Amino acid sequence: MADPVPRFDRRFDPRWGEAVEIVPDVRRITARNPGIFTFHGTNGFLVGSGDEVVVIDPGPDDPTHVAALLAAIGPARLAAVLLTHSHRDHVGATAALRRATGAPVASGAAAATVDGVDRILADGDRIVAAGVVLEAIATPGHASDHFAFALPEAGLIFTGDHVMAWSTTVVAPPDGSMTDYMASLARIAARPERRLLPAHGPGLGEATSADHLAALAAHRRRRERALLDRLAAVGAARVTDLVEALYADVDRSLHGAAAQSLLAHLEDLVGRGLVAGDGPLAPDTVWRLG
Ligand SMILES: [Zn+2]
Repeated sequence: MADPVPRFDRRFDPRWGEAVEIVPDVRRITARNPGIFTFHGTNGFLVGSGDEVVVIDPGPDDPTHVAALLAAIGPARLAAVLLTHSHRDHVGATAALRRATGAPVASGAAAATVDGVDRILADGDRIVAAGVVLEAIATPGHASDHFAFALPEAGLIFTGDHVMAWSTTVVAPPDGSMTDYMASLARIAARPERRLLPAHGPGLGEATSADHLAALAAHRRRRERALLDRLAAVGAARVTDLVEALYADVDRSLHGAAAQSLLAHLEDLVGRGLVAGDGPLAPDTVWRLG
């Protein structure tokens, strides 16, 4: 069977600032921070209903968005704030939300640099709050401190930026790691939950998520194969030469991001003993098959 190609789904109505029910006890609020990497904006999620709720990813530092979150929380007690990772578009509103509610904040290790984190998450940690149990799944790759959160009773996983329907994720060293990213894809694929809710764009349903995960992995393996074939053909190359060869059909404005992605592949291939460089993970280094 040929390797599957990802089919990206860009149909999405952000309904900025509105609390949109996804399934009972799970609501999405999309911040108005559209952009090349954020799509229509960052999705925050509210889990639970009635007396207590949990917020996953407060979103960017934007008073309008914080006000929308507080309105959606309403009279309920905010029992916990969970961060998928420490990028600004996910954690910027954390301090304001904490100030307004006093809620404790939990995140991965590097996210401890975010103002006011109370609990550092470890893989497999359970967050029992708002009448539900959420399970923290370490998913480094896009960011070294990235966590996804499973809600087993609803058969779903909040995947942050690790797995998205609308696009591949950015994997850029030194904080990003292709080795970790591929392992984290396998971790999500091995989970029983089949519904995925990313931090940008639409979700993935039970019918499509397994195929999408397989296609995301195949996409990276294809790029890796092309990189190895290119090095075999030319003998030695810098990352800029590899970008020119492998991304010839891609708009030049994206070549900087492509170089980051290839550096992530090269780092992974060096770790596996398949490639060697004459210097550090940098533009001037010349790479050969190992
Ligand atoms: Zn991110």
